[in-house]
Amino acid sequence: MTPGNTQPINMNPVEWKKVQIAGGFWKHKSDINRFITLPAIYQQLKDSGRIESLNLTWRPGLPHKPHPYWDSDIAKWIEAASYSVGMFPDADLRDKIEDLIDKYEKIQHPDGYLNTYFLAVEPANRWTNVYVMHELYCAGHLLEAAIAHYQATGKERFLGIVRRYIDHIDAKFGKGKGKIPGYPGHPELELALVRLYRLTGEPKYLDLASFFVNQRGTQPYFFEQEALQRGEDPEQSPYKEILNKNYLPAGPYALFQAHLPVREQKSAEGHVVRAMYLYSAMADLAKEIPDASLQAACEELWQDVTERKMYITGGVGSLEISERFTFPYDLPNETAYNETCASIGLVFWAHRMLHVTGNRKYGDILEQTLYNGVLSGVSLSGDLFFYCNHLAVEWQVYYNRILRNPRMWPERKPWFDVSCCPPNLARLFASLGQYCYSYDSEGNVYVHLYIESTAEVPLPLGTVFLRQETAYPWNGNIRFTFSLQGPFQFGFLLRLPEWCPGYSIELNGSPLAAELQDSGYLKIQRVWNPGDILSLQLEMPIQLMESHPYVRMNARAKAIKRGPLVYCLEEEDMGSHLETILLDPEEVYTASFEPETLNGIVVIQGKAWKKDTSDWEGVLYRSRPATLIPVLLKAIPYFCWGNRSRGNMTVWIASK
Ligand SMILES: [Zn+2]
Repeated sequence: MTPGNTQPINMNPVEWKKVQIAGGFWKHKSDINRFITLPAIYQQLKDSGRIESLNLTWRPGLPHKPHPYWDSDIAKWIEAASYSVGMFPDADLRDKIEDLIDKYEKIQHPDGYLNTYFLAVEPANRWTNVYVMHELYCAGHLLEAAIAHYQATGKERFLGIVRRYIDHIDAKFGKGKGKIPGYPGHPELELALVRLYRLTGEPKYLDLASFFVNQRGTQPYFFEQEALQRGEDPEQSPYKEILNKNYLPAGPYALFQAHLPVREQKSAEGHVVRAMYLYSAMADLAKEIPDASLQAACEELWQDVTERKMYITGGVGSLEISERFTFPYDLPNETAYNETCASIGLVFWAHRMLHVTGNRKYGDILEQTLYNGVLSGVSLSGDLFFYCNHLAVEWQVYYNRILRNPRMWPERKPWFDVSCCPPNLARLFASLGQYCYSYDSEGNVYVHLYIESTAEVPLPLGTVFLRQETAYPWNGNIRFTFSLQGPFQFGFLLRLPEWCPGYSIELNGSPLAAELQDSGYLKIQRVWNPGDILSLQLEMPIQLMESHPYVRMNARAKAIKRGPLVYCLEEEDMGSHLETILLDPEEVYTASFEPETLNGIVVIQGKAWKKDTSDWEGVLYRSRPATLIPVLLKAIPYFCWGNRSRGNMTVWIASK
């Protein structure tokens, strides 16, 4: 069944501090994030001059000229590290965070302004180019970091520093006389402002977020007005390429989702990370205000993205040039851009839409994106990262065709000049607990993600302590144990993933019926007793997936999927010419756990076919089909490709 859209609901996530990842697949990932990724990123922040830039000591001629994005990289690291110390006290990490806060405190301008690049490099040009200079974007990341730090430590110092900056921005931007009627070139501050509103209850922060979102795309175009203010002809501006009216069918400002007021934007256009953050902010406002027209706009954009412009991995943004969406069903595999941050942004948006509608389809995409397009962004070792996440790799393509963009290189790297992705991954993984559970004012507990964890769920009548145990995503067996003060009535709702053809539930060893809601969640409403054990078995068959027939790159190809995991073939297992392999739809493929392979994974194996090339010597084309010879197929989860020797890879496999 396909769940329909539901009305706004009063569902809220259980906050990150109340959910402990307790074991299994994600405990291992969380530990790597904490012990390897966070220190590795800190070292890169140091080596690249980002941390030194906070002393405002840079002068022309010196190396490490500060860059307009740098505050965002530092802020995302502070945010991630704050979640970590909030869960696991760590004096060294705490000192590193406090040192960065000291630096920010020292350089803050008396009027509250706080952007390292402008303070160090262009002090006279503050707020003159919010189109491309990322001032408001960096402010958003500083604010998210400050909120996380406050939640983790209870200390108000950093939040106080950044609130002064936000109050400065609030005084500068808006509709009043002498105010700048502009909005961020790169959305992010909007999300952070809603978060600050939720923390403080101060309506002005929600109003400012609302102003930024509602002002976007109105005429006259702010970015043009801003160029005129700088004394530039917008048609002749340095961003002429962007402004070229033939560049994007929806108009030049579509690149920054500023071509139309947001409620009139019917298709997802332009730079994908900007789009994901903007749509996340729209969903936040749709929930908080609440605003049905913003919700409707989000739902239409969601449909466009997930039904026409998303890879099976949850990768979004197929085009390298301007990191943007192209047209429906244009999903090339080797040249897929799929920035890791774009998939992280899709997780953010999905999570927010889930809390606007309660509909499982958002949870399904959240999970699909998390386990594939996001998780592929970091190596199993935790210190190497993909900026782009291709769905097929033929190494010769990168040597011969697109060498110029190092971000497209199909091998994870320790860092990038534009290094948004590594700290974005770190903050998502460090706060993953908040994506697992929700509750509502009617006394219902929701489980969105099957991750081994413990949680404290605050229901109106009392707290539910629960423990989830599972080897998911390797199998679909999940067990919940409830620790309660006494008998306690509440509804327990479990996301039934769309890919799951069957399930069973047992309570304390006896079969139990659950009611499948229109939302796609299985509901069990009863009086629960201390020590109750609920078991859920989700069938997790191997599925051979097809693309919409209009995805021309995948004609006659299938992808292997099991549960939330997309699989791929790698040269290490199948040889370099992956294009010669054919799946056999008649074959019953099997899943088995290999503890020694890639830190322990479930591999998929079975009979496939390979085109025999031995009689093609000296022939490029012929009318006689290639002879097929049987071959043993071995597929590995997509997220862990590229962790062995350098080689080719493909998700989409030709089918017999
Ligand atoms: Zn990125």
